[in-house]
Amino acid sequence: MHTNISLVELEHLLEFAPCVLYKYVLFPNGDGRLLYVSAGSNDLLGLHAKDMMGDIDNFWSIVYPSDLERLQAEDNNANQQGDFFVSDVRINNPAKGTIWIRLSSKPSDEFYEGHQVWTGYMVDISDTKHLEAELEERARRDAMTQLWNKSEIVNALSEELSRFERDNLPFSIMLMDLDHFKAINDNHGHLVGDDVLLKFTEIASSQLREVDILGRFGGEEFLAIIHNASQEDTMVIAERIRQCVEKTSFTEGTTPFSITVSIGITEVKKTHKQTPEEVIKRADNALYQAKQDGRNTIRFR
Ligand code: GH3
Ligand code: MG
Ligand code: MG
Repeated sequence: MHTNISLVELEHLLEFAPCVLYKYVLFPNGDGRLLYVSAGSNDLLGLHAKDMMGDIDNFWSIVYPSDLERLQAEDNNANQQGDFFVSDVRINNPAKGTIWIRLSSKPSDEFYEGHQVWTGYMVDISDTKHLEAELEERARRDAMTQLWNKSEIVNALSEELSRFERDNLPFSIMLMDLDHFKAINDNHGHLVGDDVLLKFTEIASSQLREVDILGRFGGEEFLAIIHNASQEDTMVIAERIRQCVEKTSFTEGTTPFSITVSIGITEVKKTHKQTPEEVIKRADNALYQAKQDGRNTIRFR
């Protein structure tokens, strides 16, 4: 069955639909013009349709400057290709604050002053963008401890090395490995082992500063980047963690037990250009030495 709707009904529909329809033309000199904008723009963009049609700068001015450059480049590109255009940008809606919108259009069969008119829509995609950001963040973290995962902590080390190349401020890393952790699992069960890892995460995090970065490097191995700290400064932090871990009492049922941690430290100094792998290798050698020297101890290289 086909239902005709009147122009008035159509305008009413467009005013309340959660999208904005538009007609747009891009002139060869790079100027754009909105030939039509539906009434939903009041709500979605916080702008009146006639203001946008009167002067497209009213629309450009609410787009985030960094996104505007990309939007206009994508617009030019789509026009040259003559096919589908889609772009996601952040705008500042005076009533709602920052929102993400998607603009999508394609060439129509209409021409304006000899140039092809593009017909499209804009929608609010803030929810999708927030979800995307949350999923991206989740993929960068270790699911159990919520610390940075191995690849992220290695990336962070790589960035810290680049920063060091520029400003020469020394920094150190600490590789921490729980002692005889396999025995904890064997004696108390894997779930208790997990609780121990979470408790260790809490202890280590509480001893580090805001600027330091902690990641889960492996099963029961953690890597911390200690910003702007010499080996001696880092020893102090490591010793606090070592003592705190040693003093913490765990209980499984009624059986109390405790754990210890061994820590390997290395300071990054101006010697030669170093890769993250080389720096981690040095900390790992120091950690190996700590294990050799009886565990529950700290060594550096
Ligand atoms: P060392 O003092 O030499 O470090 O001995 P260790 O027993 O701690 O070292 P080993 O490498 O032999 O064992 C590490 C254990 O950590 C083995 C593995 O099952 C356990 N593990 C790794 N990831 C997890 C985890 O997410 N949860 C639990 N419960 N155990 C884990
Ligand atoms: Mg271990
Ligand atoms: Mg280990």
